[in-house]
Amino acid sequence: MADIFADGFKETPYWWDLAPHDESDERTPPAEADAVIIGSGNVGLSCALSLSRLGRKAVVLDAEEVGHGASTRNAGYLGRGLAFKYSDLAAKLGRDDAAKLATVAVAAHDYAAGLIRDEQITCYYRDSGRFLAAPSKRSYDKLAKDLDMMRADGVPVDAEMIPRERQHEEIASDIYHGGQILRGNGIMHPGLYHRGLVERVRSQGTDVIGFCPATSVDRSGAGFSVTTPKGTIKARDVFVATNGYTPKALPWHRRRVVPVSAFMIATETVAPELMAQVLPQGRPLLENRNTPLWIRPNEDGTRVLFGGTTGEGLDHLPNKARHLYSEMTRVVPALDGVKLTHCWTGKVAFSFDWLPHTGTHEGIHYALGWCATGVPMGTYLGHQTALRIVGDPASVTPLDDRPFPTKPFYYGTPWFLPLAVGWLKWQDRRMLRE
Ligand SMILES: Cc1cc2nc3c(=O)[nH]c(=O)nc-3n(C[C@H](O)[C@H](O)[C@H](O)COP(=O)(O)OP(=O)(O)OC[C@H]3O[C@@H](n4cnc5c(N)ncnc54)[C@H](O)[C@@H]3O)c2cc1C
Repeated sequence: MADIFADGFKETPYWWDLAPHDESDERTPPAEADAVIIGSGNVGLSCALSLSRLGRKAVVLDAEEVGHGASTRNAGYLGRGLAFKYSDLAAKLGRDDAAKLATVAVAAHDYAAGLIRDEQITCYYRDSGRFLAAPSKRSYDKLAKDLDMMRADGVPVDAEMIPRERQHEEIASDIYHGGQILRGNGIMHPGLYHRGLVERVRSQGTDVIGFCPATSVDRSGAGFSVTTPKGTIKARDVFVATNGYTPKALPWHRRRVVPVSAFMIATETVAPELMAQVLPQGRPLLENRNTPLWIRPNEDGTRVLFGGTTGEGLDHLPNKARHLYSEMTRVVPALDGVKLTHCWTGKVAFSFDWLPHTGTHEGIHYALGWCATGVPMGTYLGHQTALRIVGDPASVTPLDDRPFPTKPFYYGTPWFLPLAVGWLKWQDRRMLRE
């Protein structure tokens, strides 16, 4: 492979160029607060913002710099769905429950898009729609069938099937069998979205403190005592919002989420004619399979961003960049020769039932296991958690307090991941053959 790395190639998220991260934080936490929020991603911040608007004093902690986790590393897709395909969800839970959960996902998108608008967060949010690319004829047929089913069940979905003959209207690729345009889905710049949330939360007088890990959470009177190296905080409520980064100090939560590394690359500036050929509508693409690849334009449509949840562990990042580059040029051969400026990684978290979970365990609130839908879903359920903390009955969603499964001998290190990913990839390959 020819040299694919541009001068100054970085192993940090492309998004951090416009929204840099702090290298240190001298802030110290207060001795008391109404709520301690563990994790400074979108979920923790969304909860903190709503709590401050409801007159509660929260403090947000992060073990690393503020925004260290997936919230500033993701692809910036603001979707309206769950990780589950609708017919699979219906087969698992029944059609009533499936329709309820699918409708929550739509509400989550609308809440997050509304927050960006109402808070005037400048993050290049765009109602782009999404192209869900079908890797096989069977996948295309299933997408069409699921769409009919969702419509029949009253799920508010606005979508159109695009047959293979028309797919060049969406992507300069011949490897797909058409796909589905999902309208009402958006994209944005996740670094700026996160930074906007931090600014709004701090402007309400709420502390957001980096390099301040919660090392233990203990009962104390009617509330809790949260220990950190920078001091102990007493609070009535604690909210765990650590998702793929859930630490050993929170063993009940850690046993219930499976962290999986996802990887992304960014290209150098691409000639406008080539950009117009690669993604003619400027619409982000996501493959409709278990281990998908995705491709989108950057915030101003001058570069290509490409990623995948490869499932393998954290390798040497330049090697990962080479692997993703060969995948990108397999999908879009016209990008061969374009150089890379960034490659980065982050952790998503899957639950064992592939559904997000929120609720209260032994008095501690949690919202975790986004299965790669955390940008809209997490923003929404962070807000709903704030409502729960203040005792508002409007906090309840169909996702609340569902059984949150774990597995025997699982303590947070997913030793079974190679097997599980192997199984998912085998299913993907089988679908390609059919
Ligand atoms: C490459 C990639 C692409 C993705 N693309 C999309 C997408 O396009 N759309 C989408 O919806 N989702 C996407 N996701 C998933 C999405 O980013 C996550 O679901 C979401 O950001 C999770 O937010 P969060 O606030 O729950 O957790 P995070 O943002 O991961 O934050 C958790 C934080 O908890 C902190 N923490 C851990 N332990 C402690 C402790 N002891 N004390 C204090 N803090 C602690 C961590 O340092 C971390 O900063 C993607 C993820 C990745 C990695």
